[in-house]
Amino acid sequence: MQTTSWSSSTILCGTLALFACAPAATIDATGKTESERRISSHHGELRVLAAIVSFPGKQQLWTVPAVELMMSGPVNAYYREVTRQKLWLNTTVVGPLQIAGGDLCEPQSWYDRVSAALADDSLVPDSYDRVLLFVPSTGACPVAGGAFAQRAAYINGIREPKTVIHELGHTFGLAHSRSVDCGDVTLPADGEPPFAAIAEYGDPADVMAVGRGHFNVVQMEKAGWFETADHGPITTVSDSGTYILGVLSKDDQRKRGLRVLKAISPDGSRREYYYLEYRQAHGVDRQTPPGQWQGIRVLLGSQPYGLGSQLLDMTPGSGPDANSDIRDAPLPFGQSYLDPVSGLRISAKSGDSNQAIVEIELPQGPTPGACQQHATIELGQPLASIARGETATLLVRVTNNDATGCPLSLFSLTKLLSPTGVLAQPLSGGPLYLSGGQRSTLVYLLKASPAAPLGIAKLRMDIMRAGNPTSYGLSVPLTIVPE
Ligand SMILES: [Zn+2]
Repeated sequence: MQTTSWSSSTILCGTLALFACAPAATIDATGKTESERRISSHHGELRVLAAIVSFPGKQQLWTVPAVELMMSGPVNAYYREVTRQKLWLNTTVVGPLQIAGGDLCEPQSWYDRVSAALADDSLVPDSYDRVLLFVPSTGACPVAGGAFAQRAAYINGIREPKTVIHELGHTFGLAHSRSVDCGDVTLPADGEPPFAAIAEYGDPADVMAVGRGHFNVVQMEKAGWFETADHGPITTVSDSGTYILGVLSKDDQRKRGLRVLKAISPDGSRREYYYLEYRQAHGVDRQTPPGQWQGIRVLLGSQPYGLGSQLLDMTPGSGPDANSDIRDAPLPFGQSYLDPVSGLRISAKSGDSNQAIVEIELPQGPTPGACQQHATIELGQPLASIARGETATLLVRVTNNDATGCPLSLFSLTKLLSPTGVLAQPLSGGPLYLSGGQRSTLVYLLKASPAAPLGIAKLRMDIMRAGNPTSYGLSVPLTIVPE
C-alpha cells in the first residue's frame, strides 16, 4: 500500500483563532437528504475542486501541477489508506484565479468570488463534494487553514499535505484530537479532566492534532469509516475479559478499536467512553513518534460525538512538562490503569507487530443492599411566595443516595399538583439518570394567573425510581400574594 511522505515542519490551525479552525458543522443524519449526502461524501469517490487563488500584491507559490501532484499523491493515498480504500479523491485543480481580498480573513467571500470567476468556464464549486481554496499566505487569518460552510476549507499559504488532510478532516465533521495532562495522575479523583489540563492539538500521533499519523479510533468512528461491511463497527466492551486489538493502520480482519463505558451524563443523553487503539510503525503511522507504539493508547470520546478525542497519559509524570509527558502516553505492556471513580481496570498484556492483547475488568457491583436506597427530593432554592400574574422558578434537587458503583437509576416525575390558578411548566430535566451518590436538578417555571386565589396553597410533586414501587414526594407551601 502506498504510504505518504512528508518532510517539512508541522504547521496547524493556530490556537489563536479556534473558530477559524473549528470543525465544519456536524453532519447529523437528521433527515434523509442529509443522511444520503453524508454517506455519499464519506465513502466512494470524493469530488474535490482545488482552486488556487491570487490576491493583489500577495505572492502565490502554488502551481496547478504542484497541487495536482499533492492531491493525487500523498493526500489521496492518506485517505485511501485510513478508509481501507473506501474513499478516494478525484481532484480538479483550477487557477490561479485573481480575486479581490487578502486583507481580511473572509473565506466565504473568497468562495463566492471564486464561484463568480469560474462561472465563465461553467465550473460550479457548489456541485463538488468538497472545495479547497489555496490562498497566498495572509496574516489576516492567523491560522494555517480552516474549514467553513460544512464542505469547504482554505489553506493559508501552507505547502504541506498534512495541512490539507487536516482541513479536509474538519469537513468530515472532525474536531481536534486533544490530550490531557493532569500532572502525576492520568485523571483526577473525580475522573473529569480539568479544562486547564487539556491541550487542543495535544495528540502527538493524530493528524487532527500535531501528528501526521492515522486518524484515531474516535475520529474514525465519527467519520463513519469503521462502519463498513468487512470491518463492522467498533467493539463496545460489555463483559470483563481478554480482547485482541489489531494494528490501527493495518488492513486485516482484526478489530481496530475497543470502547469501554466510563460514565453516563445525569440526563442519560451522553455516554463517555474509554477508546483503546494500538499503533505500530506501519503505513501512515510510520510517521508517528515511536513512543506511541509502545503499548495501548487510551483516549476519551463520547457518544454523541463531542469536541473530538482526548488522549490520556498512561505514564503520568514521566516528563518535565505536558509536551514531553505525552510522548509516552500509551499504557505499557505489563501495566494496568484503574479508573479513579468506577474501579474499571484496563491491563495491557502484550503486543507485537500485528496485534495487542488487552484485559478489561469491568467494575465489580457494590455490596448487596447498598443500592436502591432512598432518594432525596428537596428544593434547590427557597420559594415562599408568588404574586398574581407573575412567574417564579422552582428548582427541585434529586439525589440518588445509593453507594458509588450502584447501577444507574431512572427517576421520573409521576405527579405534579400545583395550586389553583398556578401553572407549572418543566423547563429542563426530563427523566433523570443518576448513579450512586449523584444528584441533579429539575427546573420548573411557575406562572400565577391574575385570578389565582390569594393565600397559602401547596404544590405537591411525586418522583419515582424505575423498578421501585416507592415514590418520593415533595410538598412546597406557597403563598399567593396580590400583584
Ligand atoms: Zn484544525
